[in-house]
Order: sequence, then C-alpha cells, then structure tokens
Amino acid sequence: MGDDLSYWARGTALAVARYAVIVATVGVLISVLPRTVAPRIQPRSPRPAQLRREAISSIVSAVIFSSILYVSVMAHLISPQPFESLPIWRWAVALLVLLIGHDTWFYWTHRLLHTRAFWPIHQLHHQSRTPTVLTAYAFHPLEALVNGAFILPASLITPLSYPVLVAFMVTMIARNAMAHGGREVFPAGRDGHPRLGWMTTVTHHDLHHQRGAGNYGLYFSFWDRIMGTERADYLDAYRRARNGASVGVSPQPIEGDPVAETPAAHSGQRP
Ligand SMILES: [Zn+2]
Ligand SMILES: [Zn+2]
Repeated sequence: MGDDLSYWARGTALAVARYAVIVATVGVLISVLPRTVAPRIQPRSPRPAQLRREAISSIVSAVIFSSILYVSVMAHLISPQPFESLPIWRWAVALLVLLIGHDTWFYWTHRLLHTRAFWPIHQLHHQSRTPTVLTAYAFHPLEALVNGAFILPASLITPLSYPVLVAFMVTMIARNAMAHGGREVFPAGRDGHPRLGWMTTVTHHDLHHQRGAGNYGLYFSFWDRIMGTERADYLDAYRRARNGASVGVSPQPIEGDPVAETPAAHSGQRP
C-alpha cells in the first residue's frame, strides 16, 4: 500500500512538473518570437487573478490526469506494452492514431460540455476570455475527468507503451499551450488563409474563448468542417490576426453560454 502510494505520488509530481516545464517553455518561446512572426491575437492582457486561477486548476487537472492513468494501470484497464515489442514505425503510427482519436474525443465531449446540462462544468474554462498558456489545463475537475478518460478508448484503438504515452502527453500539452498562447504562430499562404488548413490555428481556439460558440476542435479542423461548426468569421479573424490587426473581445456574454444566449455569429449549429 505504502509502495503504491509513493508510486502514485512520484507519477503525479512528475505529471505536474512536466506540465509546468512544457507550458513555461511554450510561453517563453512564443513571447520571444518577433511580432511579425507571431502577432498578438487580442489587444487586452489577462489579469493576475486569472493567471492564479488557471495555475491552481491546472495543478488539480494534472493530478487528476495522472491519477486516472495510475488507476487504469493498477486495475488492468490498460496494459502498456514494452517499447521493444513493436517496430518504431508502429509506435509512430500509434502516436498519430492517438492524436486523431483524442481530437475526436475532445470534439464530441466539448460539444456535450456546451449543452445546457454540462455548461456549468465547462464555464470555468471559458472564464478565460483572453486565454494564456496556463488556460490549457484550466478545467473544472469533472471536465479533467472527462478529458483524462480518453485513455480507456485509446487503449482500444491502438497499442500503448509508456514512451508513446509520454510522447502523446508532451505533444498534447505543447499543442494545447500553443492554442491558448494568444499569439498566432501558424503561417498564412498567399491567399491569407492558414497554410496548414487541416490543423487548427491559434486564432481558431482563441475565437472559441472570445465568442464561445463554434470552433470546437483541438488539433485538427476536420470535425468542425464536417459538422458545420467552424465559425463563419474564423478565416477573416485569422487574416486580421496575421496582419497584426488584433481581434477584440466581444463585450457581450459569450454565445456558447446556453444559459445566457445571444445571437450567434457562427455558421454551424449550436449543439
Ligand atoms: Zn468550449
Ligand atoms: Zn480552451
């Protein structure tokens, strides 16, 4: 029992440290980039109280994610294989499958969280109208539980090993921190549209925080496009952000709030 507890405690401390190091690294990297390469998306800066709230809920989320992994392994719900059991290319494919699977899990649970029944849980994440790298894990504990539960279907869609799980966590945290970082780092093509249109840009998720409704995807844009939930103003907002013409936060209550509804400006349907 004592051994189990210290195993959990070490894993959890590592998960919190990993989150802190990756978020700090992404934060420093995007802040030293020239404004021409990574222009600011919103003119306003977050208040210190927001950063404090985000830091505290991020630690709670990291503890929950680590605990879900610990319980899943201990209860034999997942059994990560030794890394040597498969050729490296199979692990690379496993990582890609995990990212696509997680994007799908995130999109659909995120839409559910925007319904009247679950909005009180998701509202905490949306308190950050001007997101920061720390918003990445700033969830209500129940939302962290829903997010972390992805590990169970993940083990069904692809083989898992600890190095692949760590690679997935690092990619997920870095990409998440980048998506909330407030600087548009994805380059534009000649037409002013994102060069990697199949990926979500920083403006994509920033708009979700500013306005609430639409743009529910995490890494990729395909679910929003298939389901018609990509915001109609997204490409224009991206173009303006890239050109340094900041997108201002709407003073209205957010459109994604199913309790205090305002007219939506997005092209898709509200779930
Ligand atoms: Zn949301
Ligand atoms: Zn977010």
